[in-house]
Amino acid sequence: MGSPDRIREVARRIARFVQNGHQLVVVPSAMAGETNRLLALARELNAEPSPRELDVIASTGEQVSVGLLALALHRLGIKAKSYTGWQVPILTDAAFTKARILAIEEERVRSDLLDGFVVIVAGFQGIDDDGNITTLGRGGSDTTGVALAAALKADECQIYTDVDGVYSTDPRIVPEARRLATVTFEEMLELASLGSKVLQIRSVEFAGKYKVKLRVLSSFTDVESTDMGTLITFEEDENMEQAIISGIAFNRDEAKITILGVPDRPGIAFGILGPIAEANIDVDMIIQNASTQGLTDFSFTVHRNEYRRAMQILETKVQPAISARGIVGDDRIAKVSLVGIGMRTHAGIASKMFGALASEGINIQMISTSEIKTSVVVDEKYMELAVRVLHRTFELDKEPTLEKMKP
Ligand code: ASP
Ligand code: MG
Repeated sequence: MGSPDRIREVARRIARFVQNGHQLVVVPSAMAGETNRLLALARELNAEPSPRELDVIASTGEQVSVGLLALALHRLGIKAKSYTGWQVPILTDAAFTKARILAIEEERVRSDLLDGFVVIVAGFQGIDDDGNITTLGRGGSDTTGVALAAALKADECQIYTDVDGVYSTDPRIVPEARRLATVTFEEMLELASLGSKVLQIRSVEFAGKYKVKLRVLSSFTDVESTDMGTLITFEEDENMEQAIISGIAFNRDEAKITILGVPDRPGIAFGILGPIAEANIDVDMIIQNASTQGLTDFSFTVHRNEYRRAMQILETKVQPAISARGIVGDDRIAKVSLVGIGMRTHAGIASKMFGALASEGINIQMISTSEIKTSVVVDEKYMELAVRVLHRTFELDKEPTLEKMKP
């Protein structure tokens, strides 16, 4: 939705879907740069803006978009009607600037569809119990789209974005990165949460929960072919062929903290992380070693923006209370993760990963694993090298070796 020309282009694309007999609900985002502009404007007037008012302001970007798109469709002779989020209504909780969708009353949309309208719903917004306007967090239009698809039991939810799909890793770091034809919802969740900013993570969670068939496509290439983009599939689908490793995600926004010489007794982990949680600081990796002579070290990672605050809490509240020997931290780290559903059934992937990093002399500072992911923390200056060497080692630039999913 970058310019009037682009909006006309979107309208033409919608028109083709209509001509092919589809019923369509369209969820536009704000025009390019508009949300940033609105938020900057708000901050210019008040450096500590009320979240409620931020939502009143930020939600207008999408309101303009839906109206403009409806007008562009009318010009093409297509019946179209626009709605803001609160007109639908899309009901959310009251967490301004990061609200969650609780329910969608979709009757109005449904009846418009039956009457032959293309229904255009403003993304990124809703209304809470008290009638306040809320927004869903940056990138929230994705979630609006998926939630509507779930509520309406749509055949497919297509998300048109500025990339033509989900890639094995960021092509700006690895030019040979490949577009994935399919990725499972579980992998997508990992890739999205680990910093592949293709989709808002909540939209992926929604798609997983309600089994919405989701496809990521480019809004710039003019193709309607269904083998374009990336289809997000469900692992339960036994007919799916699946790559062993799907992609490499990375995240520079991390910091690690270690509490040294922690006494090994009940309540210590709680004593450390309790005050951190109370301060609403999210913790990612947590590592505690087995103790020797009654003492151990306890490490965890937080978002880099919360590093100072976390250190302060530890120094003032935690260290005196648990009499730890010291606290050290580093906010120049990065996390690199290998993601693939095949890790469930293939041994040796982690060791191959560690071998590849060793061959480049990259020191691993922390490791964590889940069923479908192995993550390492490295010095941030080696992050790109780590991503490249792993991409090469697991041959993610080549067509994947596929295996039939096990039932
Ligand atoms: N316009 C909102 C944003 O910029 C929502 C979206 O684009 O999905 O974050
Ligand atoms: Mg977006």
